[in-house]
Amino acid sequence: MKVLHVSAECYPAAKAGGLGDVAGALPKYLNQAGIDTAVIMPKYRQKWILQQPWEHVYSGMVRMAGVQVPFYIHRNIGEDLGFELLSVDVPGLFDREGIYVDAQTSYGYADEIERYLVFQQAVLQFVQQLPGFVDVLHCHDHHTGLIPFMVKHCPEYRNLAHIPTVFTIHNGMYHGAFSWSKAYLLPWYDANTSGLLEWGNTINPLACGIKCCWQLTTVSPGYLMELLQSANGLEWLIRNEMGKATGIINGIDTDVWNPESDPLISFRMNEDINEFKRANKYILMQRFNVRQDLPLITFIGRLVNEKGADLIPDAIAKFLYDGGRASFVVLGTGDPALKNTFLKMKDQFVSFFDTSIEYNEALSHQLYAGSDYLMMPSRVEPCGLNQLYAFRYGTIPIVRTTGGLADTVIDVSSGNGTGLRFDDFSMDALVGGFKRAALLYERKELLWELREKIIHLDYSWAKSAQKYVDIYNKITLKN
Ligand code: ADP
Repeated sequence: MKVLHVSAECYPAAKAGGLGDVAGALPKYLNQAGIDTAVIMPKYRQKWILQQPWEHVYSGMVRMAGVQVPFYIHRNIGEDLGFELLSVDVPGLFDREGIYVDAQTSYGYADEIERYLVFQQAVLQFVQQLPGFVDVLHCHDHHTGLIPFMVKHCPEYRNLAHIPTVFTIHNGMYHGAFSWSKAYLLPWYDANTSGLLEWGNTINPLACGIKCCWQLTTVSPGYLMELLQSANGLEWLIRNEMGKATGIINGIDTDVWNPESDPLISFRMNEDINEFKRANKYILMQRFNVRQDLPLITFIGRLVNEKGADLIPDAIAKFLYDGGRASFVVLGTGDPALKNTFLKMKDQFVSFFDTSIEYNEALSHQLYAGSDYLMMPSRVEPCGLNQLYAFRYGTIPIVRTTGGLADTVIDVSSGNGTGLRFDDFSMDALVGGFKRAALLYERKELLWELREKIIHLDYSWAKSAQKYVDIYNKITLKN
């Protein structure tokens, strides 16, 4: 069986968050499970992509609003990733460094709709040229949400209608919705089916993917349940489509995230976990101006409300003004106002707080390795990978009980705990988490025991990949 994953991101080629991690890891584990798996993504002008050798495999044209847009499909012939990686080069649309956001202005691209409409159709045209090449099309998030519709209801692609589609929601907040006034950009479609494109009086690719796919998955069982209550307006739709929905928890790529061999950290793990933590924390202190003798509590992620980043400044201030003692580091990019707040905090809480406002893969690995705690005060968290990476590097997660965090972190107050949890989305609850972390840090025996336990937790993809295999088997048998 051949499965083609269609994704806007794929690590190590291009990653903005968890979608990139999943698209770069799940296919490898599917191949290991006997499913022939490839990934197709846009060819951004990112460093890794530019450094790799590619072979040209197909050229085509997408007609959009009467204009022919040329595209080229390339296959990676460089690094062995454990799966076949294809890229869609669209000069003028994807030959930019940023994935979703212009690096210079920090704003999203104004032609996002055009970009992903061309991408999705380029993928379908490519698949059409190779009859029998694909048995399942696995689409990820709203950037690829129109594919399940196009293969069924656009005459140009209808010869692919027999191919089963799986649609995975990594983040239900972003729908990629656009006005009906832009409908002229779409390929011709059967006018009777326009209701499938629609949600809330807009063309809504996420909703359309949910309606038209054969099987729907979310990145954790807890998140699927939460979407029924809160899906940015799609709650009712998801309730309707529950019959074909499954929540599958993400795994982690244990080759990339391996403290024993990780090339991005300074000290690798041997038998002594505490020495591993101490040595990597010391390295962090060369970069960040915070006290080494205190517990180091870190945040790594997008500086957006969804991640609860807006709670962090006040929570740190309250904790420190109340006499709490810990060092804090924030690594992230996002909301410009939050960025400024964090930058000001460097001067306000000298030697207790420091930040690096950037996306930096290597630094994130060093932070997982050298921090004592990782905070995730998320409002919503579809799965969350950071807490799973933290486990693997002996860093104790402090998380809000939501979505995938609730599925993966057990509070230490129960005998078999793996982290610190708090339930309310509030500054006080997060401060409570810091206080518990500071107390636990003093009780070294308990701290060491917990580190030892979480490092050995198994969140590799092997188990979850099998759940996708079961879905592929089910839909191809039906076919
Ligand atoms: P998201 O909702 O952002 O996809 P996830 O927890 O699923 O959240 O995945 C986030 C991924 O992005 C993790 O691999 C995390 O380490 C990485 N990441 C987020 N922000 C940064 C950053 N500023 N620098 C480096 N890595 C980052």
